[in-house]
Amino acid sequence: MSARLVLLGPPGAGKGTQAARLAERLGVPAISTGDIFRANIKGGTELGRLAQEYSSRGALVPDEVTNAMVRDRLAADDTAEGFLLDGYPRNVAQVAELDAILADSGLALDRAVEITADPEVVTERLLKRAQIEGREDDTADVIRHRLDVYASETAPISDLYAQRGLLSQVDGIGGVDEVTERLLGAIGAPAS
Ligand code: AMP
Repeated sequence: MSARLVLLGPPGAGKGTQAARLAERLGVPAISTGDIFRANIKGGTELGRLAQEYSSRGALVPDEVTNAMVRDRLAADDTAEGFLLDGYPRNVAQVAELDAILADSGLALDRAVEITADPEVVTERLLKRAQIEGREDDTADVIRHRLDVYASETAPISDLYAQRGLLSQVDGIGGVDEVTERLLGAIGAPAS
């Protein structure tokens, strides 16, 4: 079974945790654009300096930068059997770019899975994560902005995938294992 998948959901819905678990179970790489940006920021690269200008205030990094980075990552051999994208696409233009990247290789997306969660619950989770991880974009003001960006730019892409019959929604409230099983069910992976 090929698994070319995107994982959608608001910041704080548990996408990163679930992406790692799903990727392991499905045998495909989890690709988080946020993680790639953070690694570049830490490494002091040119891409990192640029990304930080935006991510530190909870804004999206410009599409041309993000799209080029994803195109490059999806050209790597480890994506031959599939991938699980976490944090991309994040707006309508990125949906079109992902389509184009895949179409250039004669491929298409298999499914978009959305983890749904109440905004109050995710805000609380993000504030808690701030204390543990110390991410500079987990302050109350920046969290508010990230949730606004999600609502205006990212949430509409669920409708696009739903119109194509590719969207599955999964309730993100519950234990980590429980949510993983729901996601695997939505993807159509064999139960463990
Ligand atoms: P995340 O870890 O997915 O919450 O991403 C952290 C930050 O990285 C975001 O707030 C954005 O500044 C940036 N970022 C991650 N993915 C994207 C994307 N697909 N498009 C633009 N910016 C992104």
